[in-house]
Formats: sequence, C-alpha cells, structure tokens
Amino acid sequence: MIKKLYPGGKRKAFNITYDDGVLQDVRFVALMDKYGLKGTFNLNSGLMETEFEWIHPNGMVVKRLPISAVAELYRGHEVASHTLTHPYLSSLTEAQIMEEMAKDKENLERLTGLPVLGFGGPFHHWGPEVVACAKRCGFEYARNAEERYCYAPPEDYYHWSAGTYHVMPGFRDFVEGFFHTEEELALCQIVGHTYDLDVEDMWDHMESVLKRVAEDEDILSMTNIELVRYLKAMRMAVIREDEIRNPSDLPLWFEKDGEVVCVMPEG
Ligand SMILES: [Zn+2]
Repeated sequence: MIKKLYPGGKRKAFNITYDDGVLQDVRFVALMDKYGLKGTFNLNSGLMETEFEWIHPNGMVVKRLPISAVAELYRGHEVASHTLTHPYLSSLTEAQIMEEMAKDKENLERLTGLPVLGFGGPFHHWGPEVVACAKRCGFEYARNAEERYCYAPPEDYYHWSAGTYHVMPGFRDFVEGFFHTEEELALCQIVGHTYDLDVEDMWDHMESVLKRVAEDEDILSMTNIELVRYLKAMRMAVIREDEIRNPSDLPLWFEKDGEVVCVMPEG
C-alpha cells in the first residue's frame, strides 16, 4: 500500500494566498513569520507605486503598501503577480492583458531579485485569453477567483481555483474539516485580502488557525509555486505494486507499508 505525501513526509499542505498588497499585510506577515509559515502574496506593483486607496463599503480606507516595502516585507514568502493596475480583464485587449502581466512581473522581479512565476487574476473574469497570456508571460500557474471548497490539490495549474475564501460562511467548517481529513495530498488553500481580517474582525480566529497549523506535525506550509513544482514532480512518479520510480528532478515522499520513504530522482 503506497500513499503520496508532501515534502518531509507530511500528509497535508497548507497555503494562504492574499491579494492586493495592502497595509494589513504587515500585521499578517508578522503573524505568519511568528509561526514559521509561508504564504503567497499577489501584488499590483502599479497601484503600490501610487499607494492607491479606496473606500470599503463599511467606511474603512483600504490602502496599498508603498512599493518600497515589497522586498523586505515578503522575504521568505512567494511574491506573485496580480496585474499592474488591477483592471477588469474583460474590458482589455489581449495585448493590454499581456502588458498588465508582463510589466507587473518585471517590476516584482526587479524589487525582489527573484523570479515571479505565479499569477492571480484580479476580479472575476477568466477566459482562454487570460490563460494564454499567463503562459506566454512565463507564469507556471494562474489562479482565478472561483472557490472549489475541497481539499484536492489543483489538477490544472492554469485554471486553479481557491480552496475557500476566508470571508465565506463555510470557512470555519472548511478549516476544521482539513484538520481531520484523511484524503491523500490534502491541501487547505485559503484566499482573500488581509483588510477583510479588519472588516470581519477575524484576526484572533486567523491567528488560532495559524497556530494550530504550525503545531500540527502532519501539515507542511507551502507557497503556491512550491505546490505546483512538487505536484508536477509527484504526477511523474511511476507506481507499480510496491515499486516507485521517480523520473522527476525533486525528491518525492511516500508512505509505504506504514513507513515514510523518500525516493530520490533517478537522474
Ligand atoms: Zn485583487
């Protein structure tokens, strides 16, 4: 009996993906760092340059972080693109979508000194032209604004939907279920915006989730790009009866007859 595991022999993966790069990210990243967790942050470098702000329906001013904060604040986490200026993609030509993606990617790579390989779509529009542009820009995955409400890891890295949003009514049940699920390669992915932790008064609850994740030895905290890379490698594994071949370039982890084993790349 062979069961697939995440790196380090962990049964489950946990990911937080927050969009927009707003002031509340400072408090949130500090919490993640406190518990040794990694997340993915989709940024609009063009709106950070102007420290764009808007008024939430509840009256709160939601403000982008200054662009000078990017390199230091998100160190150790994944910085991903969210387009340059957060436009409605449905109102843009393909050339304009390309420009929104490519310029944001270029800015974020210059700021972080790291490749930016992930994309998260602004608003809800998702179509084949968005996916085509994301591929042409060199993104290894693209996440839309849908919610799947399940623990299965994504199959199609360019039509990746969130596990759940932290503002959804089912959020608490979703997280609770994750701590108990026995599903193979279970993933709890939570997507949202840190300003909603203020709006929904959820900071204490979110911290209790992060603490529980950090203390659970079955769970590995991963960024989206780490997940994509590992899942791609895992899907190359050839498993026959009790034999495992690993033609990928990453070490792969399994539970075999009740024991955790690491199978190194063949090459
Ligand atoms: Zn957004």
